[in-house]
Order: sequence, then C-alpha cells, then structure tokens
Amino acid sequence: MDRTDVIVVGGGPAGYAAALATAAAGVATTLIAGPMPTGDNRTTALLAGSVKALETLGVWDRCKDKAAPLRVMRLVDDTHRLLRAPEVAFDCNELGLDAFGWNIANSDLMAAFRLQASSNQHLHVVEATATHVSTDDNIAIVTLNDGTPLAGRVLFAADGRKSMTREAAGIAMRAHPYPQVAVTLNLAHTRPHNDNSTEFHTPTGPFTLVPLPGDRSSLVCVVDQAQADLLMAMDDATLALELERRAQSILGRFTIEKGRAAWPLSSITAERFGARRVLLIGEAGHVFPPIGAQGLNLGLRDAAIAAELVVGAQSRGDDPGSDDITAAYDRQRRADVTLRTTAVDVLNRSLLSAWLPVHGLRGAGLYALKTFGPLRRMVMREGVAPRLSEPRLMRGEALSV
Ligand SMILES: Cc1cc2nc3c(=O)[nH]c(=O)nc-3n(C[C@H](O)[C@H](O)[C@H](O)COP(=O)(O)OP(=O)(O)OC[C@H]3O[C@@H](n4cnc5c(N)ncnc54)[C@H](O)[C@@H]3O)c2cc1C
Repeated sequence: MDRTDVIVVGGGPAGYAAALATAAAGVATTLIAGPMPTGDNRTTALLAGSVKALETLGVWDRCKDKAAPLRVMRLVDDTHRLLRAPEVAFDCNELGLDAFGWNIANSDLMAAFRLQASSNQHLHVVEATATHVSTDDNIAIVTLNDGTPLAGRVLFAADGRKSMTREAAGIAMRAHPYPQVAVTLNLAHTRPHNDNSTEFHTPTGPFTLVPLPGDRSSLVCVVDQAQADLLMAMDDATLALELERRAQSILGRFTIEKGRAAWPLSSITAERFGARRVLLIGEAGHVFPPIGAQGLNLGLRDAAIAAELVVGAQSRGDDPGSDDITAAYDRQRRADVTLRTTAVDVLNRSLLSAWLPVHGLRGAGLYALKTFGPLRRMVMREGVAPRLSEPRLMRGEALSV
C-alpha cells in the first residue's frame, strides 16, 4: 500500500492551502482532489493575513494581477425599518494599510493553487474521490473510487460541508438551514468603484458589491427563495435594472456578465475540530452565511494552524496524527471559529428579525462603531489579522521540518 505522512481529502481552496503548507515544509503530502467544481462564479474577498499566507506559499504571485484591492468597506442599512443603523465606513488608511484585502474570482485562485501544487516535489495530487476512510491508533487509510488504498499518519478533512472524512472520525455537527439563498454573479458598471466594497443590509440579508479589476464588481445578493427564483429567471437587461435599483445606482448602470448561481445558506459547526487522526479544515468544520468575508479566510487559518502543528510534530519526530495533536488543533481553532460563527449568525438573525428591540441593538452597535474610533480600529484589526489566531504563515514565516 502507498504510504505518506499527510493525506488531504478535498481539493477546494482550503484543501489546496493545507496541502501546499505541509508539502512546502518538506512533509510528504497526498491531496485527493475529488471532482472539479463546475459553475462556481463566486469571488473571494481575501483579507490581508490570508494574502500574506498565499504569498508565503508562492500562490499569490500566480494570481495577484487578477485581484482587486479592497480599501474601504461600507455598511449601509437598507432595511427601511423604524430603527435603522447609521452608515459605517471602514477605511484601511485608519490602520495605515495599503488595503484590507483583495477580491479574486475563485476560478483564478484555484488555477493558481493547482499550478503551484504541480511544482512541489513533496505534493502528490490524485484526481480521484475518497470512498472510504478508516483510522486506528497508528494509521489512517483512505480508499479511492478505483479501490486503491492509501495510508497516511494524519488526515486533513477538507472535503466540504458534507464531509465524509468528518463522519468517519465520528465527529458530530450542529446544523441548521437559513431561509435564505445567495444569488451570485459578476457585473460591469458605468461608475468606478474606487476600491470600495459596499454591503447593504436588507430585511432578507446582505446585498454586497465587491470590487473586481476595472469597472467591474462581484455581487452576493442574499434573498428568500421566492426572490431568488425571480432573480434567477430574469433576462439580463431586466436583472441589471432590478439590481441597479437595489444598489441605489451607486455604481451607475449595470451590465450582467455570463453565469449566475444560487447558494442555499446554512450554518454547520463541528462539535470538535480534530479527533482520531483527522483535522477538520475549511467548510468540513464550519459553514455560515457570506457576511463580512469570513468563510474562506477562517478556512485558510485552519489550514495554516493544522500545517504548523503537523510540521512541528514531524520535526520533533512525534506522531503528527496523535491525540495530542488533534486535541491541540481543537483547542487552537475553537475560539476563532466560535467568535466568527456567532458574530455572523447574530448579525444575520438581526436582519431577519421582525422584533424592534433587535433592530435597535444592531443600530446602537453600528452607531458605536461609527462614532468611537478605537472600537472601530479594534474591529478592523481583528478582521484583518485576528489576535486570537495568527498562524506563522500569515505572518509571512515559511514552515520547515
Ligand atoms: C455566496 C458565497 C460567497 C462567499 N464569499 C466569501 C468571501 O468573500 N470570502 C471568504 O473568505 N469566504 C467566502 N465564502 C465562503 C467560501 O466560499 C468557503 O469558505 C470556501 O469555498 C470553502 O472552501 P473549502 O475548500 O472548505 O470547501 P469546498 O470549496 O466545498 O471544497 C471541498 C472540496 O472537497 C471535494 N470533495 C468532496 N468530497 C470528496 C471526497 N469524498 N473525496 C475527495 N474530494 C472530495 C470537493 O470536490 C471540493 O473540491 C463565500 C461563500 C458563499 C456561499
């Protein structure tokens, strides 16, 4: 049977980042990539720490010319309710940064990951699907769809929200659907975005325009199922007018680009982030609505911390899949994941709630952010480089055994 040190199940962005992080440190790594995603027209707003990690892994150089900087992030209350929040703008100049982060099409980011992976001698990418996973005190075994078994000392479960690897490790999760769907598409506009991203808070969820290079932006429009069906069925010209109305014409007239998708929203949180030689990476461990660009940024921190622990164990000659490592990973990821999941859930529910005091509280919170500089700067710093969890890769330090 083929043996390796690290097996990564799942070739999404979190899986590729984790695989590259261990392989770049010289640890023998096999990535079981799974089916290639089709129809993902989304973009990802990568915050500065994530970009630093991608730079350190050699990925960013391969795609940075396709990304647009995010310099100002505006939150606009568009709920039309009795108690409304003031507009809040976060400006990267306040932190002395060039940008909070960069927005890039997932397809461009994934192409850069694949290219970088192909140039790493310690990383073996297998274009197959894992069909069975088992672990014991000494080893983890993954069986591929052609029946080939593969043995590894530690498994990174990066196989997404329906993770089979998480299940094989016996890790339970809490899950609930939201009554919301995110419609995503990209568009061109007649006015420049000036590197500003704008998140309108509507009674069905956020409507967010994020800059792309040129006079283009990506849109995430969170609505209920009925509205999503309507938007998805509109012809381009009607949809452009409808979205311009929702965007209050801040970017002028819209031209819709090819490709639309609708993503039902839900929340999933694993009860542990590591057990039985398995570490959960990305959406295998946590899923929440797309508010404030947190999901993959959190997943990249998972990848960086998992790699740091495994590379550390390898260099000490310890077992990288031991209970000590899975417990340390669980401890190190818990606060960061819980904080983000809770913050996004509370903000999302406060938009959906019909209860006046909830609107009042949200308004008061945003008013405090608008008027109290130290609080605003603390929130911005926490978003860009969380103090609870800043792995070495995100400080620009390469890992090595
Ligand atoms: C509308 C929307 C907008 C978003 N915007 C942002 C944003 O701006 N910023 C941000 O940080 N996050 C954002 N997110 C969240 C982000 O998209 C996710 O966190 C990220 O895509 C999750 O990556 P992943 O690698 O964990 O999972 P996935 O992308 O789901 O990858 C899982 C991979 O595992 C593979 N797989 C599954 N089963 C198997 C198997 N048995 N064997 C082998 N492989 C398998 C699949 O083929 C897939 O390639 C957004 C999400 C949504 C819905």
